[in-house]
Amino acid sequence: MEFIDTHSHLFLEEFKEDLPEVIERAKSIGVSKVFMPNIDSSTISDMLRVASQYAGYCYPMIGLHPTSVEENYEIELKQMKELLDLSNNFVGIGEVGLDLYWDKTYRMQQENAFVTQLQWAIEYKLPLIIHCREAFEELYALMLPYIEDTNLRGIFHSFTGTKAEADKLLSFKNFKLGINGVVTFKKTILPDVLRDVPINRIVLETDSPYLTPVPNRGKRNESANVKDVLNKLAEIYEISVEKMAELTNKNALEVFKVIE
Ligand SMILES: [Zn+2]
Repeated sequence: MEFIDTHSHLFLEEFKEDLPEVIERAKSIGVSKVFMPNIDSSTISDMLRVASQYAGYCYPMIGLHPTSVEENYEIELKQMKELLDLSNNFVGIGEVGLDLYWDKTYRMQQENAFVTQLQWAIEYKLPLIIHCREAFEELYALMLPYIEDTNLRGIFHSFTGTKAEADKLLSFKNFKLGINGVVTFKKTILPDVLRDVPINRIVLETDSPYLTPVPNRGKRNESANVKDVLNKLAEIYEISVEKMAELTNKNALEVFKVIE
């Protein structure tokens, strides 16, 4: 049985000491691919190093994370756009979006950076990997003009919202919801919300090193733990783990279009 971690930051310093073991554990439990969203210009070289070390297994994306959007965001975006023009290694634009939880100072800049990168996704025909925290209505409003744009596809990463929010996001027909360790937490409405989300609209992710699923909650997360998310989803949808792996693989490859 094989399954995919669609969102993992294995290039961060949390993995500096033992990345080979982390990759080995992921492979031996059945993780067949790991997709890596970028954070900002400071993480690109580490991400590309991991991607080339584990070519055909760890796939890099390019993008500016909303919590890294500051005064200089246009310079950051310019660097990333240059890389996009130079290389066809990137499998997605991410992670991008809005985060008004940590800091609202750069709200306008976050919105501008998001729309710019959304347009890259269309221009380069790459999936858009979206992070949204405490900014649902703002993000939805920015995306609404593109709701009929069939060239835009992607993932609403770390979805933890309500049924009404799931409905709104699923109206973007080429988007999936990224489900991670939060689905295993005791106090979450997610299992109930997911009962109304069609199986063909979800993908597995870890968001490593963050959001570790039960039973390892509190420890550093790693891609092997995507198995705990898979198991929980099989339970929620009342299908076998094997079937859930097969269906979520198909969903992930519809988004990333990576050829074996
Ligand atoms: Zn992330």
